[in-house]
Amino acid sequence: AEEVGGGDKEVVREYFNSTGFQRWKKIYGETDDVNKVQLDIRLGHSKTVENVMKILTEDRSLEGVTVCDAGCGTGCLSIPLAKQGAIVYSSDISAAMVSEAEKQAKEELLGGSSDGSSVVPVLPKFTVSDLESLDGKYDTVVCLDVLIHYPQSKADGMIAHLASLAEKRLILSFAPKTYYYDILKRIGELFPGPSKATRAYLHREADIERALQKAGWKVNKKGFTNTQFYFANLIEAVPA
Ligand code: SAM
Repeated sequence: AEEVGGGDKEVVREYFNSTGFQRWKKIYGETDDVNKVQLDIRLGHSKTVENVMKILTEDRSLEGVTVCDAGCGTGCLSIPLAKQGAIVYSSDISAAMVSEAEKQAKEELLGGSSDGSSVVPVLPKFTVSDLESLDGKYDTVVCLDVLIHYPQSKADGMIAHLASLAEKRLILSFAPKTYYYDILKRIGELFPGPSKATRAYLHREADIERALQKAGWKVNKKGFTNTQFYFANLIEAVPA
């Protein structure tokens, strides 16, 4: 049965402030103390980040462009965005994630070690907030690997809200509900590891597209990242 009500979100917040924080900080980091599965997920996720940066920089410069990174985690995307001169608003439901992202951003952006580029990075503005509570207007809104915590029934509202914050672009990634991945997930449910503490929701691409359409947006570009244990569909949407 699909959970209803606010309970899910509390579980997710609690998880990403405790064991989930430790687990994902390692996966998203650079240290060697990861197992094979975690290393594979790190690789897959970094490809998704790379693809997003490619989409966002291929047709124009990010200098001075406002970007909302909703569910920013440890800042894997916020930091490269800032390096390109974007004005980044980073938020996450987990206070632990936000403070880690802020710490890493300060280390990487205020160190003065330029990558040979003339762009002066602006430190992202960090806030602890669930994405339903975000407001304001941004040129671009990005939400990576967060939909996995939303059942499709709630994903529609979440997508509509994110779209309402974006002026030009909305970029979303999600774990696709394909036959093969369904099976993998089922195997995962039969043998839950100690670190598997929250439910994972997969989404059909058609359902995500329909939610975007309902919000008055259309798909402009699509991408897909797939390593052994990491699967993500990437969608760039623009106003219809
Ligand atoms: N977007 C980051 C990235 O790709 O590096 C982090 C992805 S991580 C798998 C999922 C993140 O979503 C966690 O940091 C979690 O705290 C956050 N999250 C989950 N539900 C959320 C919600 N309702 N509002 C804001 N953040 C949420």
